[in-house]
Amino acid sequence: MTLWGIVVAAGSGRRFGGPKHTIELGGKPLYQWAVTCLQDAGCEGVVVVGDVPGGIPGGTRRRDSVAAGLAAIPGHADYVLVHDAARPLASIKLAKAVVARLEMGDAAGVVPAVPVRDTVKRVVGDVVVETVARSDLIAVQTPQGFVVADLKAAHGADDADATDDAALVERAGGVVVTVPGEPSNIKVTYPEDLLLALALCSPPPA
Ligand code: C5P
Repeated sequence: MTLWGIVVAAGSGRRFGGPKHTIELGGKPLYQWAVTCLQDAGCEGVVVVGDVPGGIPGGTRRRDSVAAGLAAIPGHADYVLVHDAARPLASIKLAKAVVARLEMGDAAGVVPAVPVRDTVKRVVGDVVVETVARSDLIAVQTPQGFVVADLKAAHGADDADATDDAALVERAGGVVVTVPGEPSNIKVTYPEDLLLALALCSPPPA
């Protein structure tokens, strides 16, 4: 079975305050962490999408950037790992666990998941209208693994937006399953997240 990788590094970085993926983190550019993770997890090749060295042009929405990556991977790829460049700290072990679950053959997609830590409420404006039971809620990370044919079919099935690829596969009727994610696999969305990532990737003090 042939595995390829897609690292999405496009978008405006509006919440960060500008492009973030070439900022140095622990001696290498932020996006390179995700690329190395997928390479070390056994990908035959990794397509990088976005305005970074070696990257191909991305799209307006995240799903458009993933579609650009999907169009660039070779036809013989059976499985694909899709990873946010904004998640530098996913371990190789996690990526391998996603692939191992995918190889069981009963799912179109596999996502790493962690329990929701905070109490979650639904609001209308600033008024709370509901407290959502969190016991059956999960927070989902990347890398996410897919059967290439299923992810391509899901992308072709509709053009509505989605914050991850698993949502497209779910909407298309595909089975998506979870593996345990990693609390340290944070997404660098706001500037302070970079400080947290730096602390997490630094060796502990002697
Ligand atoms: O915007 P969000 O936080 O969901 O972005 C997650 C990942 O998707 C980031 O690594 C970002 O670079 C990527 N992205 C992209 N193309 C877009 C929007 C987001 O590659 N148009």
